[in-house]
Amino acid sequence: MPRSVVSLLRPGPRPDYATLLAAVRRALELAGGLEVAPGARVLVKPNLVAVPPTPTSGACTSAAVCRALCDIIAERGGRPFIAESSARGIDTEQVMAFMGYSALRDEGYEVLDLKRCERARVSVPEGRVLEAITTWRPVVEADAIISVPVLKTHDQTDTSLSLKNLKGLVIDADKRRIHQVGVFEGVCDLARLFRPAFALVDGLIGQEGLGPVFGLPVEMGLLVAGRDLLAVDAVASRVMGFEPAQIRLLALAAERGIGVLDEGAIEVRGERVADVARRFLRMEEDTRIAIEGIEIVHAEGSCTGCRNGVLSSLFDMIQAGTISAARGMTLVTGGALPPAGTAPDLLVPVGICCPPELCVHPRYVPGCPPNNADIVKAIVG
Ligand code: SF4
Repeated sequence: MPRSVVSLLRPGPRPDYATLLAAVRRALELAGGLEVAPGARVLVKPNLVAVPPTPTSGACTSAAVCRALCDIIAERGGRPFIAESSARGIDTEQVMAFMGYSALRDEGYEVLDLKRCERARVSVPEGRVLEAITTWRPVVEADAIISVPVLKTHDQTDTSLSLKNLKGLVIDADKRRIHQVGVFEGVCDLARLFRPAFALVDGLIGQEGLGPVFGLPVEMGLLVAGRDLLAVDAVASRVMGFEPAQIRLLALAAERGIGVLDEGAIEVRGERVADVARRFLRMEEDTRIAIEGIEIVHAEGSCTGCRNGVLSSLFDMIQAGTISAARGMTLVTGGALPPAGTAPDLLVPVGICCPPELCVHPRYVPGCPPNNADIVKAIVG
């Protein structure tokens, strides 16, 4: 089996732009080079899931990394554009403004909020759970797609990297459907459909714990790049202290022939994984919410809207000094049932996916995704 090549560079967590540009250029070269046909429209896809606590919290891809990639593509005669749709129910423009992407427009870069673009329905020929999806015209018309995620943990998929990042290329209703039919197979279907040409992981400042939005920043100072997205994700996961074969999404992607997963079949160029690796806190090891005595129960199909809505509401309460009102409560989302023994008056069912018997509960929070203020109101009573 041919070895996949992945580059691993360490420009430091806060390089100046010239240093970053040189590092991105080197990362692409070491990974076998990024080929750009003259005039090719190249879609640079960052991860802008939602407005994070701070621009450097490691939840979203930094604008500087995308800018460097666009500059290199343009130098080679391509026509790059940055395009993203944030999580279900999230205003992408708000995230773009917060993360500095709107400012890139002022400098002449093309930055698209896909949610405002013309839609395009496409079939998924090799889909196992998706027969067709709705994306946008700039996505289907792109000559190449480069996935540019950030190095972080995720509450559903352990890590969220270049494959998982592809979910931002479908409309909100399909994001929801992917969670309902199975996020692992669904993301693999998208990888088969979109076939990105390259991945560049922004590991300058990553995120551990309560990812994908509210985790803790980790200054890793790294870039990981390659043509084989699965190999890139495997190396990046290993850098975070995960065994890639134990990550369900990556194991399934390997089984489906999307790329290479085995350590022995991946050639890492640049830094050695062992020299830069740092074990990231897993989602369940981030005790900032648990110490408040609050139980959160998500169904397997709960999507980011409810998961992050619950967490961000609790963060809002911590900041407002009202978190004590949530002590002892159990919040359930996405159709999950409360654990046996849950006191009915301390239960908060969240979201329209709740089973009918919970939708009549006095503390039930409707909405999809539910409004943070409504969640806080239901908790406070
Ligand atoms: S109610 Fe929550 S879990 Fe259900 S689709 Fe909406 S955001 Fe997702």
